[in-house]
This record gives sequence, structure tokens and C-alpha cells, in this order.
Amino acid sequence: MNDRKKVLQIQNVTKCYGDVRALNDVSFDIYENEFFALLGPSGGGKSSLLRVMAGFEDVQQGCLLLDGEDITRMKPNHRPLNMMFQSYALFPHMSVERNIAYGLEMERLPKDEINRRVGEMIAMTQLDQIRHRKPHQLSGGQRQRVALARALVKHPRVLLLDEPLGALDKKLRGQMQLELKRIQDEIGITFVIVTHDQEEALVMADRVAILNEGEIAQIGSPKDVYDFPENLFAANFIGTMNVLSGEAVGDKVAVADYGELGGIAVQPLSQGKRATLAVRPERVMLSPNGRIDGRQNIRGTIQTLAYHGLDVNAHIALAGPHESFVVRVTTTDPAQSWIEKGKEVWCAWEEKDARIFADPSG
Ligand code: ADP
Ligand code: MG
Repeated sequence: MNDRKKVLQIQNVTKCYGDVRALNDVSFDIYENEFFALLGPSGGGKSSLLRVMAGFEDVQQGCLLLDGEDITRMKPNHRPLNMMFQSYALFPHMSVERNIAYGLEMERLPKDEINRRVGEMIAMTQLDQIRHRKPHQLSGGQRQRVALARALVKHPRVLLLDEPLGALDKKLRGQMQLELKRIQDEIGITFVIVTHDQEEALVMADRVAILNEGEIAQIGSPKDVYDFPENLFAANFIGTMNVLSGEAVGDKVAVADYGELGGIAVQPLSQGKRATLAVRPERVMLSPNGRIDGRQNIRGTIQTLAYHGLDVNAHIALAGPHESFVVRVTTTDPAQSWIEKGKEVWCAWEEKDARIFADPSG
């Protein structure tokens, strides 16, 4: 990835609204043709960052480079970036085709070129059958596609999308996620998308930046952020994570009722200070008859079984102060048919599959 061309460089950007610091010294690069997702909880600074990129917000510190050129003080309409607005921004009295052509007509491009580019875009977003309809005659998903076509037809260097699928129902959302990815791949334009939905980010993006309280918690591929979270925030934010808190003893965590448990320390641990061990549900095995040798083991009771088709999430009540563990088991596996509500079990995992984080508060 690093030999690829940098399109957008964000360098030490700080953005404040009065006393509120929405972005704090944020730096990272976005590469050509990348599908990049800004992910994080509400209020984390995602929209602020996107609006800074678009030029709708000024910054108190830092700069933005586009293809190496400083665009920090450039007006939004002069930036070769385009922001896709929600579908309500379509012109209601214009057909699909005219909505898409409008931006190019404003640029006074030759009619032939407008027709050619609008035609291409209509084909790519599969709007052929409905090119003469007005926005009120379209479904939510179709309106979304028109908004996308209208933004892409101008061939921006980077397309910025703020929660573009937020208004769609779950099924349509899943379809549009794949569709967006296909279109981005075909057209080869860099996409920067904001979402608070971690599953959506992992499905679509080449790389994800997790933003928390105006700072980057982690940047990486979906696999990186899922398998190798760099801190407890990233670990808890992406997917389901089982955590056990205790204090650091050597390279292990001493946990109430269960003693010292091992994993891979992601951060330097200070002896006797708070530390947390984290392990994914699919990395834990259940055993009915005692500890499994060579693994880290803790004892608990199966509290509920939650069905997810092929998989079942077994929720295990643990001793002492610990929150319940989630363990992914497979219903079709006869070796796991003993798993029932109320059974006492051992949860067992390999040291290499658990991560240990230093508690940020010490
Ligand atoms: P996100 O998109 O991740 O939910 P935002 O970028 O919208 O986060 O907000 C980041 C922080 O900045 C929040 O604390 C929010 O309340 C604040 N904020 C956002 N926009 C404004 C604004 N126009 N005026 C004042 N505070 C704002
Ligand atoms: Mg937002």
C-alpha cells in the first residue's frame, strides 16, 4: 500500500468549535483508488473531518494536501473533491437524467460530452429503466443511486460520503454496500465514507480509521483492526470482544477468581497496574470435562444460547465481578451437541489468540 500514490494528506489537523475540540492533531494519508472508511462512535469527529476535507469547515491548526498541493484555505467549490449529499438534495422537478446532467451543464461542457458522461454513469449505477422518472417516483435505494451518479459524473479526485446508507433499511443497506464497492472499483475514484456501523466499514473499506474523541485510535485494513487492535478502545469498538480486567503480573493479567492468564501484550505493561485481557468469541472453546491442557482456562455456566443461523453464541456467566463471556459454537457440529443452557463449562483459549492491553487510566 505504501508505494501507492498519496491523494489526500491530512497533517496535524485540529478543529475546534468554540471550546469543543472536535479533532485533535489528526494526521494520516489516503491513497489513490482507496475505499477509506472513517469509523467511530457518535461525536467522535467523523463528520467534522469529512467537512474539513470538503472545505466546509476551517481548521485551527494543520493542513490538507491534495496531490501534494496545499488546499487548506481553498474554497469548497474550487476543490476537486465532491461530497455526496443525502437523496433529498435531488431536484424534485427534474428527471433522473437531468439531475445527473445538471452539474456538467453548470460547467458549460459541450453537449456531446455531457450526454456521453451521463450515459456512462446511468449504465454504471443501473438507472437505465428509470432515467425519465422524477425523484418522487423512485425508491430509497434508487434515489441513493441517483445521488451517487450525480456526484460521480463530475469525476472528482475524491468522493466524500457521510453516512450515505443511513436512511435505508437493513436489507437494502447490505445490497447498496456491495454496490458502492463495485462502482468504486469500476470507476477507480477514491472514496472516503463516514459510518458509525463497524460491520459496514469492515465490509466495504480497504482501510478503516477509528476515530474516538477527535483522535485516531487505529488505522488499518479490516483484518488488521479486527485481529490486531492496538488499544482497548479499538478492541472493544470492532466486533464482539470478551474482556477480563485485572492487574499486570509479569506478562500476564492476574484476574479475580481465576488467577494469572496469559496473552500477547500489545502495549508495555506496568507491574501491578490495571490491565485487560481480550479474546474474540470464535477463539474460545468450551469443554464439559475440565481444563484443556496447554490453554488458558476459566470456569463458568452457560446462561443463554442465542441462535445466528449456523452459529450459536453461548453466553457464559463467570465467577466474581466479571462480565459474561460470549463463545461462538457451531450447531451442526455433533461434537458440540452437549452444549446446553445451565451446564457448567470451561472456556479455553490459546495464549496467542488473546491480547493484553494496559488500562489507559492506569
Ligand atoms: P461524528 O460525526 O463522529 O458524530 P462530529 O464531527 O459531528 O462527530 O462532532 C464532533 C464533536 O464536535 C462533537 O462533540 C460535536 O458535538 C461537536 N460539533 C460538531 N459540529 C459542531 C458545531 N457546528 N458546533 C459546535 N459543536 C459541534
Ligand atoms: Mg456525523
